Amino acid sequence: MLNIKHRNIVLVDLDNTVADFDRGMEIFLRKLHPDVQIIPACDRRTFWYQRDYPEKLHPLMQGIYNSHGFYADLLPIEGAIEAINEMSKDGIEVMLCSANLRDNPYCASEKHAWVGRYLGRDFVERLILSTDKTMVYGRVLIDDNPNLEGIIKPSWDRVIFDRPYNRETEGPRLTDWINWREVILPLMNA
Ligand SMILES: [Mg+2]
Repeated sequence: MLNIKHRNIVLVDLDNTVADFDRGMEIFLRKLHPDVQIIPACDRRTFWYQRDYPEKLHPLMQGIYNSHGFYADLLPIEGAIEAINEMSKDGIEVMLCSANLRDNPYCASEKHAWVGRYLGRDFVERLILSTDKTMVYGRVLIDDNPNLEGIIKPSWDRVIFDRPYNRETEGPRLTDWINWREVILPLMNA
């Protein structure tokens, strides 16, 4: 059983917060569909990757992120792994909180393997897959999703992980993992 100090829990999203989903999409698109004009990361406007593209391309996009190996091969976002290890060392109980995908039968096992690969075996026990993050307990949730909704009032304060498509969202913002202390620590002590 995990021995956790519950007041110190920081929930951390995976996709586009720790694992670079957008870059994964670009790599697969270039390889499999070189004819598709890729929207640069800085010009992304919607949380859902495919919605920045014409509707006729949506099935092709879904085919990529629902495919075997997609989640396993994502690359970490710069500084994320180091920051998570630093938080742990400083006594913060980091739990990874990520959604599962209905139409990708490999998603859960590949996220499990990804966490083991980049953060180590012990961290696999700290992976929570939940589509509704309000149901997960924590002091803080770091997430790129500007529209987090769920069935209960969340226990956590949300810190938005900065991406071009969430710039309108107000509240504490982590623009670079290197700055985690100045953004997260004041919320932990509040
Ligand atoms: Mg995300």
